Amino acid sequence: MLPLINNPPPWPNGARCAACFAFDFDAESLLHLYYPNDAARRINLSSSLRYGPRVAVPRIVSIWRHFGIRQTMYVPGWVVETYPEAIELLVADGHEIGHHGWLHERTNQISRSDERRVLEAGMAAIEKVTGKPPVGYRSPSGAFSEFTLDLLVEYGFSYDSSLAGDDIPYFLEGGKGRLLELPSDHPLDDWPQYVNLKEFNMGMTIQSPQRAMDVFRAEFDAAWEYGGLWSSIWHPFVSGRLARAHAMVELIEYMQRKGSVWFATMEEIADHIHGLVERGEWTPSSERLPFWSEPVPQIAMPSR
Ligand code: ZN
Repeated sequence: MLPLINNPPPWPNGARCAACFAFDFDAESLLHLYYPNDAARRINLSSSLRYGPRVAVPRIVSIWRHFGIRQTMYVPGWVVETYPEAIELLVADGHEIGHHGWLHERTNQISRSDERRVLEAGMAAIEKVTGKPPVGYRSPSGAFSEFTLDLLVEYGFSYDSSLAGDDIPYFLEGGKGRLLELPSDHPLDDWPQYVNLKEFNMGMTIQSPQRAMDVFRAEFDAAWEYGGLWSSIWHPFVSGRLARAHAMVELIEYMQRKGSVWFATMEEIADHIHGLVERGEWTPSSERLPFWSEPVPQIAMPSR
């Protein structure tokens, strides 16, 4: 076999890969963020988004319980406070609640001090329901800012899962220290497959669950072959709809039939990697931020 991944980490019990169905449980946070003045009039959009806490999260929790796996949802603090029953279902079954902003703020569009306030508010909301601060973070809309790494290090996060720089865990190095990155990328995101919402400027052709699963399964088969990390960027109101949830059940069955897969929360995956590093059993690669501190000189600027 060609080693397409250079130096993959050893996974527990000789597993071929690690897998986490990681969800971003946004509910109506985006509605209130984008339409603060007339959110109340956008009843149809609200209805679609509320399908997450009302129907999809209970359904997903029951699927995970059926298969005996614990997984991760990243939840904005406002959603944690607004939909306590859905959060309680997740917490009761031992799923991880990760940080996902307060109202899904794009942190690369706000100031450092505002990003800190958002981070603290989200942490407090999660701690109130789980009894401990969150250890994992995923940037809303992937908008990781030039301050995010330092803030996550300062607040003692165990890992980030916003970036896409590798197929396996690696370290981000910054001014305040280093942070473990558990990467994913658009092939494992459900928005390009399923989301057609003009209010969010997302007009993708809606794919059948079978076609979407072809993409997700191909990523899984490659992770299994080469020792990678498979972690999704799915959303309850999107992938928890009936036919897609059915396809998720079939995908989990496929993964379990194939065997030697370590299903874990992202927190458990981070703990495993930290343990390997502390014991000197594996050394991740690393990447230093910021990537660019000033504009690159150009030979010719376009005139229009
Ligand atoms: Zn989100």
